[in-house]
Amino acid sequence: MACMKNADNKKVYIKTWGCQMNVYDSNRMVDILSGLGYKPSETPDDADMIILNTCHIREKATDKVFSELGRLRAHKDRNELQGKNVLMAVAGCVAQAEGNYIVERAPYVDMVFGPQTYHELPEMVLKASGEKRIVNTEIPSRSKFDHLPDEHTIEGASAFLSIQEGCDKFCTFCVVPYTRGGEYSRTAVEIIDEAKRLVDSGALEITLLGQNVNAFHGQGPDGSTWGLAELICSVSEIDGIERIRYTTSHPRDMDDDLIAVHGEIEKLQPFLHLPVQSGSDKILKAMNRKHDADLYRDIIARLKKTRPDLAFSSDYIIGFPGESDQDFEDSMQLARDVGYASCYSFKYSARPGTPAANMAKLVPDHVAAERLRRFQDLINTQQKAFNKTCEGLTMPVLFDRKGKKEGQLRGRSPYFQSVYVQGNERLIGKIVDVSISEGFENSLTGDIVTTDGQILTGTS
Ligand code: SF4
Repeated sequence: MACMKNADNKKVYIKTWGCQMNVYDSNRMVDILSGLGYKPSETPDDADMIILNTCHIREKATDKVFSELGRLRAHKDRNELQGKNVLMAVAGCVAQAEGNYIVERAPYVDMVFGPQTYHELPEMVLKASGEKRIVNTEIPSRSKFDHLPDEHTIEGASAFLSIQEGCDKFCTFCVVPYTRGGEYSRTAVEIIDEAKRLVDSGALEITLLGQNVNAFHGQGPDGSTWGLAELICSVSEIDGIERIRYTTSHPRDMDDDLIAVHGEIEKLQPFLHLPVQSGSDKILKAMNRKHDADLYRDIIARLKKTRPDLAFSSDYIIGFPGESDQDFEDSMQLARDVGYASCYSFKYSARPGTPAANMAKLVPDHVAAERLRRFQDLINTQQKAFNKTCEGLTMPVLFDRKGKKEGQLRGRSPYFQSVYVQGNERLIGKIVDVSISEGFENSLTGDIVTTDGQILTGTS
């Protein structure tokens, strides 16, 4: 790793958009930059380096990046008038997709680098500090994971661990295969070592991450190829890990072994995000999902048989090109059949460069908007009904932060619901039993249960 002189006490501000993979990447950038003397900053105001870690999934992603850059440019200019150089960088999937365009349109940006090259930050910072502008959107054949530092910064007791990146599935609406490249799985030894280091740093919960996480096929310690099921079994044996989650999955990769571990490994939390995108077989085909709605229903049924208390969330795209009223009703029906604990739904919007962006039969915006409203009404009803079923239960909650109200803490239930209690800050980073008093649409409230079974109503 290249060393920079006089970098001690510098600060880096990273703004992160998008998925947990980006959160993981931003944390790893902090780990790399700490080797150069940079400390993370909560605000751009006193930062010596500003990184926008971007996501290309959401609508108008590139516009949002340029608008944020315009806002931050004033900060850079102000500092430079006072003789302080501020490095500005755009990272992540927008950087990967728009590399040269970003430096053409925003020439004050010093570094543009894609998600597969941030391990080269020390070299890039060195060059950019010497007034050279960097555009690094390679997808190198060697894994960046080989070059990341062992040290891990984690906040709270819940940590992300990236086990797999990229995707070979080419859903017609998605940019990931273009921005993150082909599928790559880390070795089991690397992952288990990183999981142990996360535990040493205070993690009780680990979320295994990948764009297509259940396509994981990493080399096992004996040279054989491991699937996600074997990896979960092995991670669950690490002392100190209390909870395991994984995201994001594809229905096609829910194999028998993975379904079985949900019934075998208690540490694997009873909540699974399993995107389906549509309930219409015609639309699933147009999306190139290579599964139909009944396969999805069958997987859900088998998972529930394996672990009856398993709750589900999903992603649905509403108003994909060619979606008829009946196709939309098929999505509504699938959602009714599954009964989600939560669910993300979005109005379709084209991503430049994807096959769907050239499809005909666009759904008029007002039609898509009305369908989305109906779909979200259904999901909100399901979510509230699920949260209501938790009233009166006692469940272990991992507290991760202070709530907005005085004396309040927020934590996560096994089903990934936000749970609010009145409690002492020293409980942050701990798993504590909570008696759930009320379920709302988006959260639960409750009271801490002491080890001798007493409920501490509204106290710490
Ligand atoms: S499987 Fe997921 S990441 Fe891969 S192309 Fe489809 S939506 Fe994108």
